[in-house]
Amino acid sequence: MRVQIAQRGQVYSKAASKGPNPFETAQRQYDIAAQFLSIDPSVSTILRDVQRILTVNFPVHMDDGSIRLFTGYRVQHNLHRGPTKGGIRYHPGVTLDEVKALAMWMTWKCAIFNLPFGGAKGGVVVDPKRLSQIELEHLTRRFTSELSILIGPESDIPAPDMGTNAQTMAWMMDTYSMHKGYSVPAVVTGKPLSIGGSQGRDEATGRGVMIVTMEALKHLGLAADTTTVAVQGFGNVGSNSARLLAEQGCKIVAVSDVSGALYAPKGINVADLTRYTQEHGTIEGFPHADRITNDQLLTLPVTVLVPAAMENQITLENAEDIQARIITEGANGPTTPEADDVLNEKGIFMIPDVLANAGGVTVSYFEWVQDLQHFFWTEEEINERLHKIMRHSFHRVLAAREMHSVDMRLAAYILAVQTVADASNARSIYP
Ligand code: NAD
Repeated sequence: MRVQIAQRGQVYSKAASKGPNPFETAQRQYDIAAQFLSIDPSVSTILRDVQRILTVNFPVHMDDGSIRLFTGYRVQHNLHRGPTKGGIRYHPGVTLDEVKALAMWMTWKCAIFNLPFGGAKGGVVVDPKRLSQIELEHLTRRFTSELSILIGPESDIPAPDMGTNAQTMAWMMDTYSMHKGYSVPAVVTGKPLSIGGSQGRDEATGRGVMIVTMEALKHLGLAADTTTVAVQGFGNVGSNSARLLAEQGCKIVAVSDVSGALYAPKGINVADLTRYTQEHGTIEGFPHADRITNDQLLTLPVTVLVPAAMENQITLENAEDIQARIITEGANGPTTPEADDVLNEKGIFMIPDVLANAGGVTVSYFEWVQDLQHFFWTEEEINERLHKIMRHSFHRVLAAREMHSVDMRLAAYILAVQTVADASNARSIYP
């Protein structure tokens, strides 16, 4: 039997993110918010760490007859407000610290939106683009089996993230259901409609990005038709954000993916680019724009910058050069804390990840509720409810920002940490 090890640093050397350790960043963000609140130190000790970590090394049959060992993680940060919720990431640079940070961010996100969940996240160290569909299915089904001691509709509900999609969720739902002997649609969200998925889930994160960006434009007295936008990443979040912002009248002047960036000061036709990427799997070679680098995209003179790729993209190295008036964080953790300070000094209006990209988990919550009730809502109902909750949360964070005289990220954290600390205090320590 030939076993190939595909753990981090052995087959792949590319790290997921440059810059600081994401979990240290998440803990520092927590510490800063906690200073504004009088939280019992023992509760604080609990909240600034994760509750459960599962690491699995699991074998997968490859198409060439070999067997390869993969490493995966599932982390549950906090279970005080309900079952945990969070995506599954397939990426060669996945690390445990990254998954821990993402799980903690999910807790805050759910708290800001008052969704009855704690935060979780999962990941497999794999480049999904280098696996066939059959290999991906084998990997997903085996990983789901490994996670079955944690996941379930009442305990921990995965969803898609970078490198995973509705098909991944369908395999997860089917594997879990096969173990149970009956269909359990509520075990995952972001599924295809045919097996209990929700209308609007695919584009929900991008729709949320659009809604809070439009609210920020209104707040700053800026008009959509004079707004230019650069979007880093043209996957689920980036492409839907670009399309929906363009529908509102904004001009999308730059987009990028892992291959590099495109720039067209007169505007990029997002529908044409989407068709092109569906055909070619990349934005590379799209004819109606100039090629620039990903680093150049971040510092373009635009009204709105939407980082929608991965962590640690805006750092001390480039923060001073950012020219955008508004940053809407479609990705999780795209800005380092040091860069945040620089952006604040420059007066850039930041819509932090825990607020900006929560459209996905919000419609995931709608999907879970529909699955549990076996009663489904129309796309109009979903979008209307999403719009209401995104606007409400944006203005709650804005009000907290004014009340505490802090920036938007800190205001969001203060709201979130207080909400979770209240739940922790109410439940107290067992036994
Ligand atoms: P995806 O895999 O669909 O797309 C990621 C995109 O980023 C791809 O276009 C990829 O080519 C590009 N990319 C990767 N590395 C890059 C780099 N260094 N520079 C420029 N582009 C790069 O992933 P997604 O689901 O769109 O997730 C993107 C981000 O949004 C992640 O941080 C994820 O955690 C976050 N997020 C996703 C959701 C969701 O519902 N999908 C919800 C909340 C947050």
